Amino acid sequence: MNSPIPVLEDTQADLLAEVTPHTGERREILDPATGGLVGHAPVHSVDDLERAIVRAKAAQPAWAALGHERRSELLLLAADAIDAEAEALAHVLSREQGKPLNGPNARFEVGAASGWMRAAAATPLDAEVVVDDGETRAELHYRPIGVVGAIGPWNWPQMITVWQVAPALRMGNTVVVKPSEYTPLSVLALIAVINRVLPEGVVEVVSGGRDVGAALASHPSIGKVMFTGSTATGKAIIRSSADTVKRLTLELGGNDAGIVLPDVDPTAIAEGVFWGAFINTGQTCAALKRLYVHDDVYDAVCEALVDIARAMPMGVGLDEANVLGPLQNRQQFDIVDRLVDSAKAGGARVLLGGDPDRTQPGNFYPTTLVADIDDRSPLVQEEQFGPALPIIRYRDLDEAIAMANGVEVGLGASVWSADRDEARRIAARLEAGTVWINAHGAVHPMAPFGGAKQSGYGLEFGVEGLKALGVPQVVNG
Ligand code: NAD
Repeated sequence: MNSPIPVLEDTQADLLAEVTPHTGERREILDPATGGLVGHAPVHSVDDLERAIVRAKAAQPAWAALGHERRSELLLLAADAIDAEAEALAHVLSREQGKPLNGPNARFEVGAASGWMRAAAATPLDAEVVVDDGETRAELHYRPIGVVGAIGPWNWPQMITVWQVAPALRMGNTVVVKPSEYTPLSVLALIAVINRVLPEGVVEVVSGGRDVGAALASHPSIGKVMFTGSTATGKAIIRSSADTVKRLTLELGGNDAGIVLPDVDPTAIAEGVFWGAFINTGQTCAALKRLYVHDDVYDAVCEALVDIARAMPMGVGLDEANVLGPLQNRQQFDIVDRLVDSAKAGGARVLLGGDPDRTQPGNFYPTTLVADIDDRSPLVQEEQFGPALPIIRYRDLDEAIAMANGVEVGLGASVWSADRDEARRIAARLEAGTVWINAHGAVHPMAPFGGAKQSGYGLEFGVEGLKALGVPQVVNG
């Protein structure tokens, strides 16, 4: 593990000072890599939430009245504001979330935040003429919903906030954001930056706990909730939204399978498989979480993955050399630890890692590869959300597909093969919202993203994502 580098850039300190409350309740946010203090976050209450909703509701008609073109211009200015503060935002994110600056991590996340903001501004959405037969003329429009609630997780806090906020704003809604209690500073900093260019009240942020999330999800003035987080919380939100028949987009947990066919070149696919599984140190909704490898190439794939994994430095995020970081919180560390222990107890073979150094500060769990593991092991069946990949051996493709589909969630999946047509045929049999071929987890702002089964419902990104933030209205005549 690389040694900590205690860099505190001035711009980052300024940004943190901007979001640190001087009055009211506040709490310490600790660095998951070192245990050191990152800063203080406000602890907002349900009363604060009420006031934020009133402000967002008051701001909404004027925001909607600006029209698509002007709102898009303002979103582009917000993206410019993110770019101008990119380094400071990445530092706050790295220190609070734990992800390194480099690799597909903090700088990458800030870049994605501004990129998705620009995409939401640029995506055309015209009224559709759905019938025009001489007798009937019907057009389909999408009107603003009103005030949208955006509730987010701690793994990609800035990027996911933009995924929720940008299309909502583009469609003429105002937004009340409730960041995860684990990563409030990253989101407060992001919103402070975009609010330099947006009118007052258009984006409000309430940094509270689960009680504030629950109050937001049941509030009568909230027309829609954009939620990204665990399946258990998603179910709670469905219940609390029922009385007001809120619209919901739910991006929930995943346990993505990858199926490796016998025709692959193991060394050629190893790096793609590695990053598919270990991006953000495994704390990614659509990461590859179970790898099914055909017996013919099993040992070679395992060997190639070990070689790649060994070469990827893990450590404190501000050290430019690192590409893997700590788990964001101790609860997640404990989940990964328990699942790997259960795999060991079940007779699985640990190829790498599996032995955290408990004398070190921080929530570091080493990069772990587990072979010859039974498909029924908890490490396979439960979402580990951390750097521990189970590799399951298969001989029969139908059996591999059945195992891949054998869980209640279905966010993503991947097929690895030299034969793209065969991979596409297998994709059609997989119960997942996205299937990648010879890749895993890459998202694009114009390709709709959403889950099958208990990974949620509703789509984000592109035209479909904009439509999800509007009320469809048919104008007939
Ligand atoms: P979580 O469900 O514990 O928390 C998410 C958010 O919900 C937090 O802001 C929390 O305060 C809030 N919350 C908690 N209880 C609530 C309630 N009753 N009503 C309203 N809000 C409530 O999730 P997490 O641990 O932060 O995130 C990890 C999970 O998120 C993983 O399962 C991961 O797969 C999933 N995830 C999914 C996607 C996706 O796009 N599908 C993306 C990222 C993460």
